Amino acid sequence: MPALNPYLASMPAGYLFREVASRIAAYEKKHPGSRVISLGIGDVTRPLPSVVTEAMADAAMEMSTPAGFRGYGPEQGYDFLLKAICKNLYEPRGVTLGIDEVFVSDGAKTDTSALQELLAPEARIAVTDPVYPVYVDSNAMAGRAGECRDGLWSNIEYLPCVKENGFIPPLPRHYVDAIYLCFPNNPTGTAMPLAELQRFVNWARQNGALIFFDAAYSAFISSPDVPRSIYECEGARECAIECGSFSKLAGFTGMRCAYTVVPRGMYGGTLLKMWKRRLAAKSNGVSYPVQRAAEAVFTPEGSRAWRDNIDYYMNNARIIRNTMRKVGLTPYGGVDAPYVWVETPGGMSGWDFFDFLLTRAQVAGTPGEGFGPSGAGFLRLTAFNTEENTQEALRRIRAALGTK
Ligand SMILES: *Cc1c(COP(=O)(O)O)cnc(C)c1O
Repeated sequence: MPALNPYLASMPAGYLFREVASRIAAYEKKHPGSRVISLGIGDVTRPLPSVVTEAMADAAMEMSTPAGFRGYGPEQGYDFLLKAICKNLYEPRGVTLGIDEVFVSDGAKTDTSALQELLAPEARIAVTDPVYPVYVDSNAMAGRAGECRDGLWSNIEYLPCVKENGFIPPLPRHYVDAIYLCFPNNPTGTAMPLAELQRFVNWARQNGALIFFDAAYSAFISSPDVPRSIYECEGARECAIECGSFSKLAGFTGMRCAYTVVPRGMYGGTLLKMWKRRLAAKSNGVSYPVQRAAEAVFTPEGSRAWRDNIDYYMNNARIIRNTMRKVGLTPYGGVDAPYVWVETPGGMSGWDFFDFLLTRAQVAGTPGEGFGPSGAGFLRLTAFNTEENTQEALRRIRAALGTK
């Protein structure tokens, strides 16, 4: 037997979505002809704007000509896309970035799971609870998380996001080397106002810690006091690395394009140098046609199309929130993110409420417990289905809860 990575070998199995799928399959098998509607979809569903796919097709055709052929591109990304990201996603928010500080990649999952490579093996991290599992799993596989008991790792500090604190995490109680924050949040759908995020930036600067900020849902923000980027906070350029993605912004989950910002001045340029060195060793960049497609996201036609898609999803989020209130439940989130975090009735567990809605309404959500212990007693509903299916699911929920 070869000496295998013991941390990877002993990872607990990914349980949540497998269990959800198996309960739905079991129900459908027992009730042939039933149609379960999923309000658990964690992926975009609207097609790409044609200006984006045409840009990709044109770039692909260019590659078949002697003059247009391109081999390996710059591993950091083509200048045209780096410039487009700075100009369209940061300048409007008053954030000036140099293109040397932006790194294009094939996904925020790739990048957020790689951030831990910047840390020493013994470094300590903090995450929110509930949490997007990638941050925890990547640290656990690197041997930094300790032991897993009841869904919590012994070396990770968890910052609970519960209704009592409005789903805004408390500052870490002990020193940590890095804090992972994702706002607007998956799974709670809640956002962090600028003043709250500023407290984290101040803490990180005072303590010489890093913030890894996942801004995957920034395009869904509508509240005026919520920052799209952590660099809207004073001093964030000294302590924060930000990951963004075209996935939820422009429907790129099947295209694969994202970016990470590492400010030049962080620790005298050390962090930027490390990220560059790492990338040069591990990546040959993202394909040229995909980068051209991402650039086309910012054309007037492209922008109109993805804004329309986001409006479409957020209309679903609004009707989910309104219906939850009408049936006497309490929804959180769903204003600046495509997720609604619903408190279960009568202190039910998230799994019990999941089963209740599956069997009484043929509607599937995602139990909050699956994202961490503080998710207990919540169900995540997502806005990514069609409006028709969302309306039908909500009609069934109203009927099941006896509130036509
Ligand atoms: C969907 C999602 C992403 C995007 O990941 P990609 O790899 O870019 O598709 C990142 N972070 C969170 C929290 C997400 O939910």
